[in-house]
Amino acid sequence: FDFLAETDPLVADLIQKELQRQRDHLELIASENFTSPAVMAAQGSVLTNKYAEGLPKKRYYGGCELIDEIEQIAIDRAKQLFGAAHANVQPHSGAQANFAVFLSLLEPGDTFMGMDLSHGGHLTHGSPVNVSGKWFQACHYGVNQNTEQLDYDEVRELALKHRPKLIICGYSAYSRIIHFDKFRAIADEVGAYLMADIAHIAGLVATGHHPSPIPHCDVVTTTTHKTLRGPRGGLILTRDTELGKKFDKSVFPGSQGGPLEHVIAAKAVAFGEALQPEFKTYSGQVIANAQAMAAQLQARGLKIVSNGTENHVMLVDLRSIGMTGKVADQLVSGVHITANKNTVPFDPESPFVTSGLRLGSPAMTTRGMGVTEFTAIGDIITDRLLHPDDETIAQDCRQRVANLCTQFPLYPHLTIPIPA
Ligand code: PLP
Repeated sequence: FDFLAETDPLVADLIQKELQRQRDHLELIASENFTSPAVMAAQGSVLTNKYAEGLPKKRYYGGCELIDEIEQIAIDRAKQLFGAAHANVQPHSGAQANFAVFLSLLEPGDTFMGMDLSHGGHLTHGSPVNVSGKWFQACHYGVNQNTEQLDYDEVRELALKHRPKLIICGYSAYSRIIHFDKFRAIADEVGAYLMADIAHIAGLVATGHHPSPIPHCDVVTTTTHKTLRGPRGGLILTRDTELGKKFDKSVFPGSQGGPLEHVIAAKAVAFGEALQPEFKTYSGQVIANAQAMAAQLQARGLKIVSNGTENHVMLVDLRSIGMTGKVADQLVSGVHITANKNTVPFDPESPFVTSGLRLGSPAMTTRGMGVTEFTAIGDIITDRLLHPDDETIAQDCRQRVANLCTQFPLYPHLTIPIPA
């Protein structure tokens, strides 16, 4: 970082300030995490200089001997971690991984089915503003209005009605276990491919804290930066090596150019970390912490969608306290808690306002917090939301956040010189 401060003090200064922001805030965005310094070192390496179109040992550029070894390590570790027969580690992001699968399995105009964005699905699962909704015929299932959980009979009925060529399961804001075997049965009944997008729960799947989709799905996509705690990126996995070759071609040359080998090296490092026993302990703690926070929010009178969580994420339904997600987001942000407003199922508010607040445990679990701290965080959030106009309580919340941040330092050995 000395080089950076010398060469570009403006950018160095902003990075330093962002490090400080990350240190001073409670990060509860469910899709974020803190990678290890080793992952960041791999990503910030000379590998960023290298073009390597193609796959290991089948490149369109020279000088790829070492790159090949690194990418092969990433592939082998991804396969081992998830028990897959084939892995493509090149997608630049989760969205790119999903698009590559669409390119392999669908023709423009084909029908596919995923969960509605407002019920917890992702933009890339057929939102009209995304290519998945523009080029393909997307139909959607949601959660059951009473249970706020998946209703497999409803999914089946919709599948029988729409006859999709592809069914997607896996979500951005769903706090319950996904029964991939039930989705398989539905897909088989209508002759559809089945894809699981485990972007959010990948770390839990890798460590056996959530059932694996690999035995049931034709393809599994994920991001590498959420519960999996790697660099920002995407990954495609399958147990079918023939389909795997199709996905490889859809990534390159189908939809991407040169792979980001520095990111792939960082993925290799993160997969290596995720294979260690400590990561299994971490993942178990992520769930225990989320459950502790959800229980405390509920004990203090707030409503959690589906009445709890079985993974790392939860949605607070703010309608019962007459608040919008937008206001709640601003309130917690004011006491240095980072979260995001989110629609709840059957939300009467627009996506810019919403009635929900999405909270997650992966990042602060990485900082070392446990059930005691997450219970305390549940209290801070409730105190803030139930007393929106009380500046004394707000000040007290800020102090409690600051105490927690000091007690659980982030990247204590990382220093970025502040430019003069
Ligand atoms: N799929 C799901 C379920 C997600 O939650 C996300 C990101 O939030 C993505 C895909 C897209 O990932 P990326 O932001 O890396 O494109």
